[in-house]
Amino acid sequence: MKKLHGVHVPHNKNTANMKPVRLPLPASVTIPMSMGIGAPAKPVVKPGDAVKVGQMIAEAGGFVSANIHSGVSGTVKKIGEMMGAMGRSMQTVEITVDGLQEVSEDLHAPEIHSLEDLLKAVKDSGVVGLGGAGFPTMVKLSVKDIEQVRYICVNGAECEPFITSDTRTMLDRTDDMMTAARLLVQFFKPEKMIFGIEKNKPDCIKVMKDAIQNEPLMEVQALPSMYPQGGEKVLIYHTTGGIVPEGKLPLDAGVLVLNVTTLAVIGQYIKTGMPLVEKVVTVNGSAVKEPKNVIVPIGMLMKDVFEAAGGFKEEPGKILYGGPMMGVSVPDMEQPVLKTTNAILAFNKKDSVLPEPSACIRCGKCVQHCPLHLMACAVERAYEKGDMERLDELKINLCMECGCCSFGCPAHRPLVQTNKLAKAQLMAWKKAKEAAK
Ligand code: SF4
Ligand code: SF4
Repeated sequence: MKKLHGVHVPHNKNTANMKPVRLPLPASVTIPMSMGIGAPAKPVVKPGDAVKVGQMIAEAGGFVSANIHSGVSGTVKKIGEMMGAMGRSMQTVEITVDGLQEVSEDLHAPEIHSLEDLLKAVKDSGVVGLGGAGFPTMVKLSVKDIEQVRYICVNGAECEPFITSDTRTMLDRTDDMMTAARLLVQFFKPEKMIFGIEKNKPDCIKVMKDAIQNEPLMEVQALPSMYPQGGEKVLIYHTTGGIVPEGKLPLDAGVLVLNVTTLAVIGQYIKTGMPLVEKVVTVNGSAVKEPKNVIVPIGMLMKDVFEAAGGFKEEPGKILYGGPMMGVSVPDMEQPVLKTTNAILAFNKKDSVLPEPSACIRCGKCVQHCPLHLMACAVERAYEKGDMERLDELKINLCMECGCCSFGCPAHRPLVQTNKLAKAQLMAWKKAKEAAK
């Protein structure tokens, strides 16, 4: 099979061997009601209410939405509002932490006898896609016809530099993963469940190969360490040979893709009834004094995480949610750990300065590196001219914003940033055109 393009990025996985440490609890947590794709959740608690660990504090606000649970015991301080890193205002539930970590008496391990039981458990666990944009997992698993599911791909690629939280899931939570994996195979009956792991994680490959020894429908595939190996379309192609049709979903290629930590959360809920309330987060970057993996409750503010993790050795110039390729730069450290947060990185001022772009030399490297063969240089020209028809022709809507084009550009053109703007502008143009009909 022909391999898709990509780039060789420096891995910087120096925290891979560091078992996550549980940080001391902060004085309070601020839990946003929007932590992924879909409708915001609706708070079911009010100021003054006592809450316990695992207790539901907000219910799904629609079909494409997810319940939210508390990772701390304490008292609801306020139902507030905050500006998220993506520039969207979000409702929040702020909880004053009592430090007792009393667990809710309502938590019970669910009994799973059918696909419906499994889907209900996934919904009740509050889990969303933990390797990406936070799409509610229950919605992803609610397929109309399970015959469509030929493969279940478990994404353990973790191709972004610095991040090692999924690595730790594979090494430390193998049993939780396998609990969920066996049930998914039992009820979806795929031809194969494939664990895709980059070759730069030999320990994970070994652990997972040992775990599936007696599972005839499961397979571990060691994938080349080539970014963006963990991109959904790239992973599907390299593990199954399937191609997701343009504008369609992985299921249209017969594949369900689940991240390794998503699987572990489902397994943990099935075994204990404890929903998604905390995250393993990689804390790293050139400004960080002691890089490590930490376990923190969802809603712990970045400033509290950095402080409890050992603080900075230099003043940070840039702080990211996620890795340097696809991460989101945050305006301040008042942003909380979200369900989808797998790393927070802080870089010193020197490493935060982007090189000055020069004129495009038409070398074509951006096209060569793009896994989807998009033409970022042509997109840039069309965007600058405001030529929406051309942007449509260039299929900018397919761009997965992986950043390979920018990474490989010798002229340091800010291609991925332009792509994001071009996608948004094209979508608005199409909507306006539709409305004018
Ligand atoms: S890689 Fe950069 S310089 Fe080369 S064609 Fe693309 S935009 Fe131009
Ligand atoms: S055009 Fe989009 S998909 Fe292609 S390399 Fe650039 S960011 Fe990635």
